Amino acid sequence: KRVLLTGANGYLAQHALGQFLSAGHSVRGTVRSAAKATQLKSTFSQYGPAQLDIVVVPDMTLPGAFDEALKSDPAFDWVIHTASPVSYRNTTAGSNEENYVNPAVKGTMEVLEAIKRVAPCVTRVVLTSSIAAVIDWDPSIPYVTQPARVYMGADWNPTTLEEVRATTDAPEAYRASKTFAERAAWEFVEREKPDFDLVTLCPPMVYGPVFDERWIGRPEELDQSAWNIYSRLLRPGLQSTDPVPPTGLHLYVDVRDIARAHLLSASVPEAGGKRFVICAGEMRYQRIANILRESLPEKRGTIPEGDPGQWSMEEGTYTASSEDAEKVLGLQFITAESTIGDFARQLASIEARG
Ligand code: NDP
Repeated sequence: KRVLLTGANGYLAQHALGQFLSAGHSVRGTVRSAAKATQLKSTFSQYGPAQLDIVVVPDMTLPGAFDEALKSDPAFDWVIHTASPVSYRNTTAGSNEENYVNPAVKGTMEVLEAIKRVAPCVTRVVLTSSIAAVIDWDPSIPYVTQPARVYMGADWNPTTLEEVRATTDAPEAYRASKTFAERAAWEFVEREKPDFDLVTLCPPMVYGPVFDERWIGRPEELDQSAWNIYSRLLRPGLQSTDPVPPTGLHLYVDVRDIARAHLLSASVPEAGGKRFVICAGEMRYQRIANILRESLPEKRGTIPEGDPGQWSMEEGTYTASSEDAEKVLGLQFITAESTIGDFARQLASIEARG
């Protein structure tokens, strides 16, 4: 199949790109700059231009942003839209609405409208949403005291634009941006009745190795979820006696599994029209610390030890079910030890460079 992948240089998207390519599909990736296109071509240099080409879409919020990218011979069959603002570290100017909500929503609408306008052969669109668009949580309360329930694809974060406007909290704006972008996509399908069907994927925290660690010069360049782990459990100056920090979102999926979920969501006919929660289980910081200390014995003196026995789910809090994804997509999950272990070894080698 011929596939358009937006945000192709992203942490998750590079794994997806690798999997679409090794399955034999022909992929055009979009990135925001020529430098990122060069890096990506180097990472995937074993694939010739007929199987992989990269185009620059500098601003996905501009009208017609994807029109040129979506013109192709052979025509596109599938579109995978992953690009969305994620990092909380780079936003210097602008409101939360400008930094998160507008790019997420406008970018999604630009992709969908451009498909309708210039790429009528597209049969399936896979949108990377987030569990942030599913769970109805109060981040000011520790997760262990949140009401017990099992979130599924039918659940929606009830956040409103007024709430985003009333807060300076970037993570809250991010969660709202994912909710509004996904809602806008489903509303587009409902309203426009396009020739393609839509699949949305709602992962919680995405952990695991970066696809090509050569491009991460310093830990500060890691994606947001890897940075969370590095800065809380591995950064210089920590001691094993320091407390393990409280967990924000205690649910996770391995980056290689959510990447495979994208491939399966495009290729499995029965996935059309579905919204999948993709969650491998629970990963509180204590569990991450345990696996880091196991994987990096030379760093045991500086990785917080906490209380190693207290790593599993507290009674009563919320969780999420991937039953639908397991049934429809046949998705199975990598072990937690591989997710954190593979990533720990990379983090240690990235840190050693700096
Ligand atoms: P990355 O930051 O590694 O990738 C994000 C991608 O989106 C990059 O290609 C980035 O481009 C692009 N992007 C960011 N802001 C904009 C913008 N304003 N306009 C156009 N493109 C933009 O993050 P992830 O790989 O983690 O995220 C990929 C997707 O997965 C996102 O949709 C995210 O919301 C979702 N997700 C991620 C989770 C996680 O824990 N990581 C959890 C749940 C969902 P550039 O490199 O140029 O900045």
